[in-house]
Amino acid sequence: MSDMNIVDYFEIAIVGCGPAGLSAAINGAIRKKKVGIFGTDFCSPKLHHAPHIDNYLGFHHITGEDLRQRFLHHVEAMELVINQSKVTGVFPDEKGFILQSRDKFFSAKTVILASGVSTIKPIEKELEYLGRGVSYCATCDGPLYKGKKVAVLAYNREGLDEANFLSELATEVILVSLVKEKDAQGIHLNKNIKVVSGKPLGIVGELWATGVALDNGEIQADGIFIIRESVLPDQLVPGLNITKQGITIDRSGATNIPGIFAAGDCTGAPYQLSKATGEGQVAALSAVKFIDELKSNTKLTNSSESLAVSLQL
Ligand SMILES: Cc1cc2nc3c(=O)[nH]c(=O)nc-3n(C[C@H](O)[C@H](O)[C@H](O)COP(=O)(O)OP(=O)(O)OC[C@H]3O[C@@H](n4cnc5c(N)ncnc54)[C@H](O)[C@@H]3O)c2cc1C
Repeated sequence: MSDMNIVDYFEIAIVGCGPAGLSAAINGAIRKKKVGIFGTDFCSPKLHHAPHIDNYLGFHHITGEDLRQRFLHHVEAMELVINQSKVTGVFPDEKGFILQSRDKFFSAKTVILASGVSTIKPIEKELEYLGRGVSYCATCDGPLYKGKKVAVLAYNREGLDEANFLSELATEVILVSLVKEKDAQGIHLNKNIKVVSGKPLGIVGELWATGVALDNGEIQADGIFIIRESVLPDQLVPGLNITKQGITIDRSGATNIPGIFAAGDCTGAPYQLSKATGEGQVAALSAVKFIDELKSNTKLTNSSESLAVSLQL
């Protein structure tokens, strides 16, 4: 990973721009840390859809959309910028972590996962074939299918863009579009993309995936790209402890991976705003403490090394 182009560096990178992520962001910024927020959609679709909220202290009978606007205004007022991009992977690195978002890479000392509750239901055998013909990332794995035939299961607008990108590499792209018409507006598909209808049921294959079973038939392909709005937490961060409830955290918001914290709906029920913003704050303060401890340990190591050197002198 050493030759990759790092676009930016953050002390705290936050995956998700809902109430939990934004609360973590303002708290991290107040503690003077360099914060990066990553989010998809319009931060957050869930909050936007809440018709009225009666249990968020100080805002009696506010609509979800009004509260969403207030949250965004707060973040803007603190000059924090939201990177409108989906994070597809978080990997350890000698400086902390690398976050991947399509073809861009970001470096971070700590990461706060605030990606909301995962409603993804993988199709049959999807996880079994992941890395063996099934991929979530066209930019990362597309070049493997140069001159071959690929299938794209597009659950959102990004999936259509990825089909276009893949059509420049593969000889043939079969697109199963599950995107609503209004969300697909303005996208023109390349000529070598064949659009088929049907509901994906599962991946078929032997040692490697060879196709997709649909409710109205089967399609054959050398590679299958599944593009959805969000990524399963354990696919996002390999090695992360999760249960059916969500990401496992302790009272400080720490996960099983040192330097990675989590907050909000992604850590489990109750799926509520006050819990999300509260956990966002706790995770941010814990990330700050983690960074400060790392710094003082480095200073201690450096000063004991210089003491050792001066004693030798
Ligand atoms: C209809 C409805 C009514 C509700 N009413 C109430 C209520 O009255 N009171 C109450 O307390 N709660 C209510 N809730 C629940 C409340 O909205 C949630 O608890 C809250 O939004 C959780 O915040 P969060 O930040 O954890 O997750 P979310 O709000 O889900 O935000 C997560 C964000 O992360 C983004 N994201 C996910 N994965 C990635 C990735 N890989 N990279 C980048 N970004 C990513 C998502 O796009 C999203 O914007 C309601 C929810 C709904 C749907």
